Amino acid sequence: MTENPPARRTPPPPLEPAMPDCSVCGEITDFYDEAYRCDSCGAAWRPEDAYRDQGRWCDPDTTQCPSEIRPWPNDSRPAVRDAAFRCLHTEGHKGMHIDPYGVAYEWTDDDIARKDGAA
Ligand SMILES: [Zn+2]
Ligand SMILES: [Zn+2]
Repeated sequence: MTENPPARRTPPPPLEPAMPDCSVCGEITDFYDEAYRCDSCGAAWRPEDAYRDQGRWCDPDTTQCPSEIRPWPNDSRPAVRDAAFRCLHTEGHKGMHIDPYGVAYEWTDDDIARKDGAA
C-alpha cells in the first residue's frame, strides 16, 4: 500500500452557472442563441432583462389555449369570485393547463367539468 505524499490542493473545478427555471412550467431552462429558452413551452427570455421583463414566445403566431379556470367560484367578494386565469400554453397542447400569472395553478379539463357540474 502506497501513501500519497503531502501536496498542495488541486484547484476546484470551474462553476457551472445555474439556469433559471421556466416561469411557465418550472423546468430548468437552456441557454442558446443568446437567450434562456424552454423548449417544451416554446418560451424565451433575453438575459439582459429576463428578471425584469416578460419573455416572448419562440413562435409568436401560435394561438393560446382557450381553457380558463376560476379558482374561487364560491367567494363572497365578486372580484375574487370572478377572477379567471387562462392557460398560457398553446391551443391543443398536451398535459396540464397552467397559469403562472395567477397562483401557479395547474388544472385539467376534468377539473373544469367537475367545477361546472358542481355550480
Ligand atoms: Zn416551460
Ligand atoms: Zn391549456
